[in-house]
Amino acid sequence: MIQRVLVIGSGQLGLMMAEAGSRLGIVVDRLDPEQETLLPGTSDRRYEVRLDDLLSRYPVITAEREHLPDTPWMSALLSSPEFHALSAYRQLPDRLSQKSLLDELRVPTSAWMPWPGADQAADVLARLGQGARIKRRCGGYDGRGQWRLDTSADAPQLGPEEAIVESHVSFRRELSLVGGRSVAGEKVFYPLVENVHHEGILRLTVAPARDAQHWQARAESWLGLIMDRLDYTGVMAMELFDTGDELLVNELAPRVHNSGHWSQTGASLSQFDLHLRCVTGLPLLRPEVHGVAAMANIIGEPWSAGWYRMPGVQVYWYGKEVRPGRKLGHLNICAPDLAGLAERVMALPPALLCGIDLTVLGGCPGDRATATLNRKSP
Ligand code: AMP
Repeated sequence: MIQRVLVIGSGQLGLMMAEAGSRLGIVVDRLDPEQETLLPGTSDRRYEVRLDDLLSRYPVITAEREHLPDTPWMSALLSSPEFHALSAYRQLPDRLSQKSLLDELRVPTSAWMPWPGADQAADVLARLGQGARIKRRCGGYDGRGQWRLDTSADAPQLGPEEAIVESHVSFRRELSLVGGRSVAGEKVFYPLVENVHHEGILRLTVAPARDAQHWQARAESWLGLIMDRLDYTGVMAMELFDTGDELLVNELAPRVHNSGHWSQTGASLSQFDLHLRCVTGLPLLRPEVHGVAAMANIIGEPWSAGWYRMPGVQVYWYGKEVRPGRKLGHLNICAPDLAGLAERVMALPPALLCGIDLTVLGGCPGDRATATLNRKSP
């Protein structure tokens, strides 16, 4: 049995993978790709390390983030036989090659084109329509590196090599699918979940998504096709727009994903366990889900002992420095049904729910819950 896994990345995703590893008897150590230092397990101590030691010590290398520095260490680690996701890490971090892959596999996504430069904005508007989104090809996340194009004057000064542009999608809701693929090509998936964003950042996930069973098989077949084409090993997430009539892929992330955190409490197998099972060759099992679950992100809020006093709420605090807009932790909540879940979510501190639309919990826009919770935090 494989007992050591190296995760490239020193953020919370690797930290939660290390926690899952401790239950599986797998040592998971994390590598800071910028500083080239090692953080053993869940420790915050950093140790100097040599590249050849890493390559000989870890039979499995994986990653918790797709945007990595272009350094000799990264090319050595990603192209080593211990890393099982090279094609995905070559193609998905760049939106241009990611969109091209979706088109090639005939997986529906919004109409798009390479960004031709600000001087051609009028032509882009004529082709893709008002509200088109200009997105940086690399490095943008949580809504950063994105511009809305309504008139030519909105065009950012980005060169043709730097961005893509896609048509605006009038979606009813945002969904995502998280699945895993083993070294042998076996695949399992979680149910589709519904995600609520505010100012480009994921705030709340509800699992399973309401009335989404009719999309499940289709979404699984797309993600399965993508993972097979990339010969991918590990957990991958697919973000989707549900317009009511159709389902469109927004983006792919070759890693454990924020919209899968609910599985730590709400499923028989968390996405972190599943990822480790995939990359180490342990048997896969379709995760069983009992009842309903929610995950609320803690964004820019200082740590509070009060979170630990809420019955039935599982607290994950990442130990990071508090900064506005930064993901600092999350809360997982389960209940037997949606009404029970809504009650528990609405008991969360208002600051965590401020500005977000809670119709996802079964209410109507403007009802008591939404109206109360949309008020500004103190
Ligand atoms: P992304 O970084 O691509 O995940 O985008 C962040 C958020 O911007 C998404 O979760 C959507 O809410 C919104 N968004 C992105 N692309 C589009 C689009 N083509 N049409 C409408 N909204 C979009």
